[in-house]
Amino acid sequence: MRACVVLLALLALPAGAGCDAVPPAGQIVPAPPSPVVAPEALVKRLEAMQPAWPREPDCGQAKCVALTFDDGPGDHTGKLLDMLREKGAKATFFVVGQMVAAAHGAATVRRIVAEGHELGNHSWSHPMLTGLSGQRLAYEIGHTGDLVRRLTGVRMRVMRPPYGATDRAVAEQTRRRGLAQILWNVDTFDWRDRVPALVAKRGAQVRPGSIVLMHDIHPTTVKAVPRLLDTLGHRGYSFVTVTELYGDRLRPGRRYEQLRRR
Ligand SMILES: [Zn+2]
Repeated sequence: MRACVVLLALLALPAGAGCDAVPPAGQIVPAPPSPVVAPEALVKRLEAMQPAWPREPDCGQAKCVALTFDDGPGDHTGKLLDMLREKGAKATFFVVGQMVAAAHGAATVRRIVAEGHELGNHSWSHPMLTGLSGQRLAYEIGHTGDLVRRLTGVRMRVMRPPYGATDRAVAEQTRRRGLAQILWNVDTFDWRDRVPALVAKRGAQVRPGSIVLMHDIHPTTVKAVPRLLDTLGHRGYSFVTVTELYGDRLRPGRRYEQLRRR
């Protein structure tokens, strides 16, 4: 009973409310009055209780970096998600539609979303998008977007053209589909050099606002990630998704390589 009184005091409820709460059979118990909380007051209380809230830093002020992983989801993506979760880091996954449709693809993209990462469109079959017919281009982007939306409920806001190859037709197609084109300013060349220490070293050559290109289909890249997170974490970086990096500044069809801070 004493614990109950303390609990009620903490909740600012009158003593006796709710503790001995089994009413005699047949007695009608009136519903307790619902508490009215002003939204602004609630925000102030939450801020006081959780100084780090909200989680997203203002990347115009804080040191942010967007780690991006292309060409999956693959066999090593789950392991990568474990590592990111352990360090509280968020990332962006530019997925290939065919990989999403393959075995375990659906479960992995759902996990990516559930753990607070961002999904981006990296086409259906990873061709050079430049020079495709309008119909094929629409299929490459649209089919992946539709599948991801069906599996996760997420309408993606960002895309990355395979090989970074883009032109006016790609810009127009992505603009119509509400997708910003995200390139990068730090390339780890992890597809070529399968050496975790080298990948981690190159990935650390960032400045605030950088976008780092990696590929989660290579186990050597996934192995490089803990060291990369530690190195940049010690330098004060926050690991954010591309959309978190830009806030509401992303415009469909436009190209972005890094956040330029004023
Ligand atoms: Zn790719």
